[in-house]
Amino acid sequence: MKIAIASGKGGTGKSTVAANLACTLSCSREVALVDCDVEEPNLHLFFPAPAVDVPVTTPVPEIDPARCNLCGECGKFCRFGALSVLKDRVLVFPELCHSCGGCSLVCPQGAVREVPRTVGRVACSRPLPALTLISGVLNEGEVMAPAVIRAAKLLAEGHPLTLYDASPGIACPVIETLERSDACILVTESTPFGLHDLRLAAEVVERVGIPAGVVINRSDGKDEETLDFCRERGLPVIMTIPFSREIAAVQNRGGLICRDLPGWEERFAALFEAIVKIAGVSP
Ligand code: SF4
Ligand code: SF4
Repeated sequence: MKIAIASGKGGTGKSTVAANLACTLSCSREVALVDCDVEEPNLHLFFPAPAVDVPVTTPVPEIDPARCNLCGECGKFCRFGALSVLKDRVLVFPELCHSCGGCSLVCPQGAVREVPRTVGRVACSRPLPALTLISGVLNEGEVMAPAVIRAAKLLAEGHPLTLYDASPGIACPVIETLERSDACILVTESTPFGLHDLRLAAEVVERVGIPAGVVINRSDGKDEETLDFCRERGLPVIMTIPFSREIAAVQNRGGLICRDLPGWEERFAALFEAIVKIAGVSP
């Protein structure tokens, strides 16, 4: 079973929910936790442990000048502007290449060869006896986040229960994370900004066709607007985490409330039961 944890914006506590849920579940079963927020992975901060790195590469074209007759076909084909056919050579801009493989297919001279380019890495660790942490890390300045997310998710394949922590927002990396998930936990705050971003995130999840439930974090008890929205959209609210100094203190020191505060392990276990019900698949 695969559960994604997402939020329409950063700073809502999405990673906190993912880390607490993973820690709670690992007390009773094997769990893989995948940090798909590859531009700013932070789950390793909750679970420090030595990690093994696996590089992530994507194929990019290399032009053989001996074969190339500068016909221009590859440049015309590439809609990402990664190839520029000049009078005397073809320029390749690897950082713009989306690795679609099209240029090697259209080249009539067989002058395009694909070579691997490293865009990031996946760090794998075992911080708790039943918890595997897989963190995707995109190299600085790179834009191919989906490739690193795919690699991180692939490494987690075969685990019976996997949690994906998505990047904030609603862009391609989130869609990549949501794909093939059985259910999604949407984390929000009951502020006007929070509701705006929840609305966007809910639309994305709906479009991808994944059942979802909502966690309201840092609630001040005035959640009516968020609750109304969730009711209208048929999104069950499956957990509310109140704003409290005690919780903030645990989080500020990088702790987990399921470990450090009484009652929270049970609440995260109940959150899991609720999302399993929403997913409608056996865990
Ligand atoms: S592989 Fe695709 S994206 Fe990359 S240079 Fe070739 S045509 Fe462009
Ligand atoms: S399609 Fe092939 S032959 Fe034509 S310009 Fe590109 S690399 Fe050269």
